[in-house]
Parts: sequence; structure tokens; C-alpha cells
Amino acid sequence: MIKNTTEEKKIFSFDKNFSHNILFSKPDKYKSLEDISNNYDEIISTGSNLSYSPLAINKDGILLELKKFNRILGFNKEEKIITVEAGMNLMEFLNFTLKENLWIPQLPGYPTITIGGAVAANSHGKSCGIHGTIRNSIKSILLFHKINGWINLSENENKEIFDLTIGGLGLTGTIVSVTFNLSKIDNTRFNTTKHKVNSLNECKNFFNEKNSKNSFIYSWHRADDLKNLGKGFVYENVLDMKSVKKFKNLSKKTFKFKPFIFPLWNKLSIKFINNFFFIFNNLSKKENNEDFLKVIFPFYGKESYFNFFGKKGFLESQLLIGEQNLDQFIDEFKNLYKTYKPAITLLSLKNMSGEQKYIRFEDNKICFTFDLIKSKSSLLFMNEIDKLCVKYQILPSIIKDSRITKETFYDSYKYASDFKSKLYLFDKKRVYKSEVSKRLEI
Ligand SMILES: Cc1cc2nc3c(=O)[nH]c(=O)nc-3n(C[C@H](O)[C@H](O)[C@H](O)COP(=O)(O)OP(=O)(O)OC[C@H]3O[C@@H](n4cnc5c(N)ncnc54)[C@H](O)[C@@H]3O)c2cc1C
Repeated sequence: MIKNTTEEKKIFSFDKNFSHNILFSKPDKYKSLEDISNNYDEIISTGSNLSYSPLAINKDGILLELKKFNRILGFNKEEKIITVEAGMNLMEFLNFTLKENLWIPQLPGYPTITIGGAVAANSHGKSCGIHGTIRNSIKSILLFHKINGWINLSENENKEIFDLTIGGLGLTGTIVSVTFNLSKIDNTRFNTTKHKVNSLNECKNFFNEKNSKNSFIYSWHRADDLKNLGKGFVYENVLDMKSVKKFKNLSKKTFKFKPFIFPLWNKLSIKFINNFFFIFNNLSKKENNEDFLKVIFPFYGKESYFNFFGKKGFLESQLLIGEQNLDQFIDEFKNLYKTYKPAITLLSLKNMSGEQKYIRFEDNKICFTFDLIKSKSSLLFMNEIDKLCVKYQILPSIIKDSRITKETFYDSYKYASDFKSKLYLFDKKRVYKSEVSKRLEI
């Protein structure tokens, strides 16, 4: 064991539903990555550990934190290609590319998420209805695997492992660097328009009518009581082509995810804040000019939203629902709400495009997200939602929801067994494991 390079510390999943003392190491060179990996039978790589479920945590073996791998390895402006190390975070990445009027549009909603974490989770951004997931911007990957060694992955080289690695939750090995095909972005300010809706079904119809190629559309709905369930706003962001403001580096702030000792979310505060937000949106300007950080990373600066749940944590459910099943799902959701009265703090919808394969959270469906206070009634409510996942062929996110059972997972992810058998062919010893992969027996 390489004692001097390892430390032990208590690590929590982002939703606080899992915690354990974990042995971890922060390699800073390719050689140290090899040496540490060679000393352990079970490994998991981690970025910023911002996954809601314990995807980057394993209480056995070693956790490899890649933060020191954060360099730009290559950039070709003409070809719009960049190669970066996997531990680089999104803010560092964008501070380089945006100056060149380039980016990738599939950015998950928090700036300290790492490139490796985003690729391994096949992350998506607000515009996933038009831009799909990060898979669409990846050209190639350099992977290190303890047994299989250093492997270049792309459509032309080791295609099968390339496909298993994107959205493969770190189970194929350590992603060391990623080459992206960048897209042009002419401006970094957005015009945001909001439209009031009275129900979730009205929101769905709005999405259908506004199937625009150049705007990001998503919604926020009240779910603080049955009477108000679904009332809310649809937001539409369009790049402001007239803005003459120059891009300024996105600056790191000292916001922290630090749960309050006593939770502040309860049915009363949920009602109060939802009411306030609704009235404020109703009375404020319909159109706003917003900066990049606010639009792309909506929770940056609003960490208190999560801290309000307290040390007990919270639950998030993110579901991909086929349009043909959405109306029936909404009816059943309302009936379950009436029965179990879960405490939902946030409810939001957006479109998603892509192809579902392996264990990737991706499909041509509607992305239905909600957060709940962790309580007996919420857990009972969620057990019923799991049944609806099977009934309506809904895909629940295992990145967001740390409750998902093995049964619900294999019933909803049709290609998960295929992923598992290909993974075992690549790595018979199944070295790379997390708490989630063990629970789901991947
Ligand atoms: C506030 C907030 C907003 C979010 N918004 C979105 C969103 O809009 N869209 C979305 O899709 N997701 C979103 N997420 C989820 C987030 O994108 C993913 O959980 C992402 O994986 C977190 O990145 P990370 O660097 O923290 O990775 P970690 O949580 O550390 O790891 C995530 C997974 O990636 C693997 N991994 C990490 N680095 C490597 C590596 N170098 N090699 C191999 N495997 C690796 C881990 O093993 C693990 O399986 C959000 C999360 C938060 C907290």
C-alpha cells in the first residue's frame, strides 16, 4: 500500500443519503495514477463528488480524485478541437474556450463539475432538447485501466469501450483526458422570456409548439399543494446577438454546499417560497437580459436551496417520460400526491433528445424533475413512482436518485444487462466499482 499518498476522510453523497470514511488519493502524475491503481483491487475515480447518489464513492478500495489533472493539452481554433485533462472543472474550461467564442452546449448546471464527471455521467444542460447530451461533443478519450493499461478511445479506435465509457459512471477505468469538438457561440448573454402556464399539460403543449432550434426551454412549477400543482412558468433563453458586452472570465465565488444544522424546508416554508416566487414572476418583467452564469449554472450562488434541507439531506427524482405517456403519468402523479402528500420543493420540465443505450440517462423524451424533503410520506410516494417507471417505460436517473433499486433499474434500463456483460468482457475482475454499481449489481 502507498501509505503516504492516501488519506482517509468522511465523504457524503450530494443528497446526503450516503456517507462513509473513505480512503482516497490525489494522483498528480500519470505514473502516480498507475502506481496507486496497481495497489488496489477496487477503484473508483472521482471529480468534484457532486453526483447526488454515491457514484464516486466506494467504501472498499481506493477513491482516485483527479482534480490535479486539470491542464489544457491541445487546442486547434480552426478545427474547433480542444483536449483537456479530466479533472478540469467547467469554469476553468469555459474561461479558456469562451474567449475564443467556442464552447460545448451540453453543460450540467454547476461550474465546479469536472470534465471527467460530466463525461462519465453523460451530462446534459438546459438545452438538451436541441443539443442532447455531452456524448455529442466528445471526439476521443484517453482512458487508464489498471489491467488493460492506457487506451485511446474514439469512433475509430476501441469504439466499443468508447461507447461504454461515455455515461459508464467510471466503471471502465479512469478517464484521464478528453478531446471535444467545440461549437461556436457568438455571445455570452441571453434574452430570457417567461410564459405563464396553469398546468403541467399546458407546459407540454407549449414545448410542442415552441420546438425551436435556437432557444433553450424549461419550466418551473408549483407543487406545494394539490390546488396549485402545475401552475408555473416556462422560460425560454435565446442568445442575445445584439449585445456588445465582451466576455469576462467567470469568477470563482466562495459559495458553499454546507447543510444547515436544522432544516429550513418544511411544508410551510415550501408554500411561502413557492407563493413568493410565483407572485414575483407574475409581476416582474416578462423579458430579461441575463448573463451566462445565471442561465447556464442556475444553482451557482443559490446553494442555500440545498443547504436548507439540513444534514438529513433530500431526494431528487429525474425521469425521462415518453410524450405519449406524459398525460397519464401526470394524472397518476396527482392521485399519488393526493394520497401521500409528499413535500416537494421544486418541480421542473424540459425536453431531452438522444438515443437510450446501456446505462445512459438519455432519450427522446420529456425530462421531469422534482426534489423532495426526505420523509416517510415522500419515500412511500417515491415507491409508487418507481412502479409508474415500469408501467410507462420511464427512465429514472440513477445519478440523481440514490434510492433506485436493482429491480427498478433493470426493469427500466433495457440495455443495462448488455452494458454489464460487455464490461465483464473488458474487465473480468471488475476493478472499478462504486456504492451505486454494487447496489445495482452492475
Ligand atoms: C447543483 C448541481 C446541478 C447539476 N445539474 C446537472 C445538469 O443540469 N445536468 C446533468 O446531467 N447533471 C447535473 N448535475 C449532476 C452532475 O452533472 C453529475 O453528477 C456529474 O457527474 C458531477 O461531476 P463531478 O465532477 O462532481 O463527478 P463525481 O460526482 O465525482 O463523479 C460522477 C461519476 O463520474 C465518474 N468520474 C468522475 N471523474 C472520472 C474520471 N476522471 N474518470 C472516470 N470516471 C470519473 C465517477 O466515478 C462517478 O461515477 C448537477 C449536480 C449538481 C450538484
